Amino acid sequence: MCVRLTDSKRCFVSTQFEDSYSRKYYYLRLSVTEACNFRCTYCLPNGYKPTHKNSEFLSVDELRRVVSAFANRGTSKVRITGGEPSLRKDFIDILAMISEQEGIKKVAMTTNGYSLAKNVHRWRDAGLTDINVSVDSLDPRIFHQITGVSKLYNIMNGIDTAFEVGFSQVKVNVVLLKDLNNGDLPAFLKWIQYKPIQLRFIELMQTGEMHSLFSRHHQSGVSIHNYLVSNGWLMKVKKHSDGPAEVFYNPNYVGEIGLIMPYKKDFCDSCNRLRVSALGQLHMCLFGDFGIDLRDLLQEDRQKNALISRIQDHVSNKKKSHFLDQGYTGVTSNLASIGG
Ligand code: SAM
Ligand code: SF4
Repeated sequence: MCVRLTDSKRCFVSTQFEDSYSRKYYYLRLSVTEACNFRCTYCLPNGYKPTHKNSEFLSVDELRRVVSAFANRGTSKVRITGGEPSLRKDFIDILAMISEQEGIKKVAMTTNGYSLAKNVHRWRDAGLTDINVSVDSLDPRIFHQITGVSKLYNIMNGIDTAFEVGFSQVKVNVVLLKDLNNGDLPAFLKWIQYKPIQLRFIELMQTGEMHSLFSRHHQSGVSIHNYLVSNGWLMKVKKHSDGPAEVFYNPNYVGEIGLIMPYKKDFCDSCNRLRVSALGQLHMCLFGDFGIDLRDLLQEDRQKNALISRIQDHVSNKKKSHFLDQGYTGVTSNLASIGG
């Protein structure tokens, strides 16, 4: 198939979405709802205030057309996110539909884990292959302070249940927050010593709705990086297809540690992901200027080629970097609105 590049007259044949910096995109982050039942201080500190009816979020058929277009151009991994994706009443149908798409090898989700213990076996049966659970502190008091809910033990049980039903690894996202969870590293290390958990420390990213919180709580991942390298942790060699996380292992630990430092120079060089919001907007980056509406092309299967061309046109113009380090936050008011 010949794909037009808008910034030049060239045509080229590609099996994957590719930008003008030769980055290839085979990983789709698909938001299925903006709704959430937590009130994380860095995301929805006042809780979710609906600006759309649930029925306005992409239907299973519309989601299928998105995934099918991406799969047609080499996407092999889809992460379902939100908001809290498991709040969708048809979540099982969404999982099953994605796992049935030809070419999709990994169906992942990011969840706050509130219904993990109850539902993870059903999610696995429906086709979920990879799971990320957000756990910002192992201290129930701090956990409540950060998320607004008292569900820590329930979520930790859910992670154990995930292992029981057959997941060989669970990734746990921890947003690094100065003066809140930065003293938790010893407890986290103890937790992963005998469990196949990949802890992923994520630096707090500044979004449009975040005012003083960023300056109060942003902590660089460098201190964790330095601790790890001086305590026997070794960095895994990155494969070409790996994303921006730096992953460390230690022969004395079953678990691993990942560091995601979006403010680090060249963070965007290994970008391999595109995003579609719950309202059907294509986002080149969490911190882009605008979303590109795809919804008019999601109504009928026969619009697939037009959909693919529109996506590639915009991918061709994807910027080299997010410019977060210059205080730039783009249109993102909070990550629940696009899917973090
Ligand atoms: N509700 C689900 C959850 O919390 O896991 C999925 C959506 S949430 C937006 C996805 C991830 O983004 C979570 O791990 C969350 O901690 C992270 N996140 C949200 N806002 C963030 C921010 N401002 N900086 C860094 N990570 C953020
Ligand atoms: Fe909800 Fe996830 Fe945002 Fe927390 S980070 S408020 S759980 S969407």
